[in-house]
Amino acid sequence: MGGFFGVASKENCVMDVYFGTDYHSHLGTNTGGMVVWNGNSFTRAIHNIKNTQFRAKFEPELTKLSGNLGIGCISDTEPQPLTVRSRLGQYAISTVGIINNLYDIVNMAFANQHVHFLETNKGAIYPTELVSVIIDLENSFKDGLLKAQELIEGSCSILLLTPQGIYASRDKLGRTPLIVGEKEGSYCVSFESSTFNNLGYKFKYELGPGEIILLTPEGIEKIAPPRDKMKICAFLWIYYGYPSSTYEGMNVEVVRYKNGAAMARKDNVDIDIVAGIPDSGIGHAIGYSNESKIPYGRPFIKYTPTWARSFMPQDQQIRNLVARMKLMPIPDLITDKRLLFCDDSIVRGTQLRETVDLLYQCNAREVHIRSACPPLVFGCKYLNFSTSRSELDLVARQAIIELEGEEPESYEAYCDPANDKYNEMVNCIRKILNFSTLKYQNLPDMLDAIGIGEDKICTYCWNGKE
Ligand code: SF4
Repeated sequence: MGGFFGVASKENCVMDVYFGTDYHSHLGTNTGGMVVWNGNSFTRAIHNIKNTQFRAKFEPELTKLSGNLGIGCISDTEPQPLTVRSRLGQYAISTVGIINNLYDIVNMAFANQHVHFLETNKGAIYPTELVSVIIDLENSFKDGLLKAQELIEGSCSILLLTPQGIYASRDKLGRTPLIVGEKEGSYCVSFESSTFNNLGYKFKYELGPGEIILLTPEGIEKIAPPRDKMKICAFLWIYYGYPSSTYEGMNVEVVRYKNGAAMARKDNVDIDIVAGIPDSGIGHAIGYSNESKIPYGRPFIKYTPTWARSFMPQDQQIRNLVARMKLMPIPDLITDKRLLFCDDSIVRGTQLRETVDLLYQCNAREVHIRSACPPLVFGCKYLNFSTSRSELDLVARQAIIELEGEEPESYEAYCDPANDKYNEMVNCIRKILNFSTLKYQNLPDMLDAIGIGEDKICTYCWNGKE
């Protein structure tokens, strides 16, 4: 994934960009970057943040950075923001999303124009560089940003910092959010609105799908209007959005409470404790506990002093090891207990299986799992999640192949809770992962908890509908 943050201020904005970008650290693991315009030139800092927190890496840079316009990002795709000198002028650019037709666009650019791309990425082309080339081939930043929206298949939200201000362009279907905050003398634009409170900003404006604005220290200039159709990612609320963020008027934590409560209303299992798999399972579990009146507990605690990052390394074996080392069981709350855990989702299920095995080793009597969203049957093709979400890795796909002996022609029956095949798949997943019982949230109740109207929400990874 990735996230970004920008500030246009009448004052030096470096500290706001620093903290605002840091507050996007849960969205990526690879690199962090900051660029500030000091009135004459850009100053840029880029660091690998795989093993060190963003703030620790960037704190020594702060004395070198000064200016009233700045952007920062956390990125899994490439070192960014890029700084560019083009015929449109100097600018810095950062993107969030995925370009599925990257080489089609590259070939189109080669066919029509005299352009080149750097080969600093083992021969591959960085998406943000491609976006900058698309923009440079047009006659204005506005036309360039609109052209990028038109050409890119996948999703792409963009922050483009110029000496005049920050262009913010939300992905054409609004898969990811882009929100403006305001305080005296400053405006910010952020993926996560959770950045606002501690930096003194108040909510000002949320960009619509495909909308483009120019943010200056004086205010917001509308450059291109929002489009009609929106498909914002439902997983923002269910899994990766920060609990204190609000998108489309719906706070993440509140949605998780509602979602957990809806699961509890349709459940009838005898248990002693409700618990959440940290971090995003916790909100759903609190909602479940409040609704069911069954006490919430913490049968294990996440060890945060040295394992603070919520995303984990790309290598699956290391991810599993880190996940195991992070969780410390409390045998007094586990031995002979019937436990119910809410998790945000079940992707491969390997970490969850290890956690459940650990609970059985601590003599749990029963371990019931409730997934806060329906079975993941399709891999996401609109956002840049880690490779572990490729379709055949999904435990639902593994169960389907086990049941069918091969990949079926259609997955429709497995997406329908009223169909026997769905129930066979869920039971097969339960056996693979060694749970006492397993239930998934259904799609209508999940969409109801998000509450912005189902036609505005992307549900592709649950039903394969574009
Ligand atoms: S496919 Fe799933 S993860 Fe991807 S944008 Fe849609 S809802 Fe989000």
